[in-house]
Amino acid sequence: MKKKDQNIAVRQSADDLIIQAPVAISFLKSNSLVIESANSHILELWEKQADIIGRPLAFVLSAPGQLHYVKSVQDVYKSGHIHFGYETPIRLNRNGHNNLFYFDFVYKPVKDSSNNTVGVMVVATEVTKQVVARQLLEEAEERLRLAIEATGIANWDMDLLNNDVIASSRLSEIFGYDSDETLTYQQLFGAVHPDDKCVVDMAFEEAIKSSIYLCETRIVWADGSIRWIRTTGKVLYDDHHKPLRMLGTTIDITKRKQEEIMKNDFIAMASHELKTPLTSLKAYTQLLVSKAKKAGDEFFINALEKSENQINKMARLIYGFLDMSKIESGKLQLNTQAFDINELFDEIIADKLLIAPDHVLSFKSGQTIQINADKEKIAQVIGNFISNAVKYSPKGSAITLAVKKLSENLRISVKDEGIGLKVRDQQSVFQRFYRVEDESTRGLSGFGIGLYLSAEIIRLHHGKIAVESEEGKGAEFYFLLPLQTDPN
Ligand code: ADP
Repeated sequence: MKKKDQNIAVRQSADDLIIQAPVAISFLKSNSLVIESANSHILELWEKQADIIGRPLAFVLSAPGQLHYVKSVQDVYKSGHIHFGYETPIRLNRNGHNNLFYFDFVYKPVKDSSNNTVGVMVVATEVTKQVVARQLLEEAEERLRLAIEATGIANWDMDLLNNDVIASSRLSEIFGYDSDETLTYQQLFGAVHPDDKCVVDMAFEEAIKSSIYLCETRIVWADGSIRWIRTTGKVLYDDHHKPLRMLGTTIDITKRKQEEIMKNDFIAMASHELKTPLTSLKAYTQLLVSKAKKAGDEFFINALEKSENQINKMARLIYGFLDMSKIESGKLQLNTQAFDINELFDEIIADKLLIAPDHVLSFKSGQTIQINADKEKIAQVIGNFISNAVKYSPKGSAITLAVKKLSENLRISVKDEGIGLKVRDQQSVFQRFYRVEDESTRGLSGFGIGLYLSAEIIRLHHGKIAVESEEGKGAEFYFLLPLQTDPN
């Protein structure tokens, strides 16, 4: 092929490349920037037709809003330096709508063999999707930031490898500093009330295992005043499950906490005052029962036994409230001793007629299993499971108690054939005052504190409490007690 023919072929393939390119391209020649070639994408940007090819750029893009664009290309020709333009907004008519679109531009000088600029190559890539996505993200972030600010919640990010903390300014305020002061991990942890440091340590240990950090503690401000804070966090791990970071929020709960303390004190005082008259009421009723029995008066025996039952119910409730206030003020203590769990079950079963007169209560005593625990409190938890099983299952149905020795734990369970629980309620029933309110529980009274107390007692024993259930098919409440450790 002759040299001239070769040039034509090269030129042709360069033109084809420009026309078929997925980005907007134009080649502008000589210092008058004559449009040598332009593909359909760049014609769309300029809002022109192919008949502009062969005409100077300044002549084609002469509208006032286009002059700065022409000038940028002229500057590249004159200086011989490449120019980049990022996320340039351009209004375009597309699909009958006039909208703003965004483009990244490159104006590249094209040089001959003597390094003289002979033209400019313009390439534009559309980045509208990326820009819009980023703008939406920025708006969402801003909305979230405003919402967080309005709630008074501080958020933070802690590097678990070197304890560096990045926090919102609200955290400094919660800890009694100016909002522009940056706090270190040492300052934050150092502010925790000395009596609550172990609570923080325990919550942290738990977070490393379960990924969830949750803690309510007191902090001491520099002026000596005491505040309450609630902190929640989530641990992030690397591929080898090594903890890397913890993200979380902190909120000042001093208002709420003071009200809670006042409410607790009131409950504790009222329950305490009710205990004494109730004890003498019980003693007198028992006396009357035995007198009625001696006299063989069936009506009185029946009526007084019913009264005694109601008194026992009331006593359980009052002791429950007392325990709850002890838990809230951190004063519920264990009185541990070594005992055989089967003995405890035998004692419970001996009261069968009293605790579940209308159910088929069964327990098979197995091997001797010694545990170290608070016998009275463990009995309280099992008693609560049984009275719930009685309450939430039909008369005549079976209630099965079981003890199983696992490798590290003892599993104690109470299973019924009652109404069961929805999956969404299975976690929540261990929270204070939580009750399932639906058709199946209508008419069944309660305060929703029994399982909360049980959960706290098991937590103090370093055990685990849970329920397995299918709605309508009964429930199995159980707890695990570590076999080795002494809770104290
Ligand atoms: P209370 O029974 O006084 O409401 P609890 O704390 O003992 O309080 O129980 C909390 C809730 O858990 C109950 O209101 C009930 O909805 C549910 N629950 C407890 N035990 C059972 C059970 N055996 N079967 C079905 N639901 C139960």
